[in-house]
Amino acid sequence: MLRFAALDWDPLLRAARGAREAAYAPYSRFDVGAALLAEDGEIFAGANVENRSFGLALCAERSAVAAAVTAGRRRFRALLVLTDADPPAPPCGLCRETLTEFCPPDLEIRLVNVAGRHRDFRLGDLFPEPFRFAPRG
Ligand SMILES: [Zn+2]
Repeated sequence: MLRFAALDWDPLLRAARGAREAAYAPYSRFDVGAALLAEDGEIFAGANVENRSFGLALCAERSAVAAAVTAGRRRFRALLVLTDADPPAPPCGLCRETLTEFCPPDLEIRLVNVAGRHRDFRLGDLFPEPFRFAPRG
């Protein structure tokens, strides 16, 4: 089992919990909070934001990435995702791809549920082969 002993996850859990309370998920009723730890120690939280046109739903993870990038952060150390799923739910494929744009394969990801269970992964384990784009010219 993967262990991330050095990182204090409590501030990320608090941030994700606060974000989850703000989740807008009237269709799925699957509230999600995410907290992204920037390399400089700042934490950026995100909640899922659904839409009546389901395809427009924004996941909590991408919401957190957008908040961080908007604040000028592009390098990250860890991500925590909080749901009520058991086992704790991982990011969807779209979010995994988005995370690979800014995060190294060794990004620590902790999946937590409201009962307190958690699972730890590295981004590279969840998404080993991201899309690679090399512009011509
Ligand atoms: Zn997602």
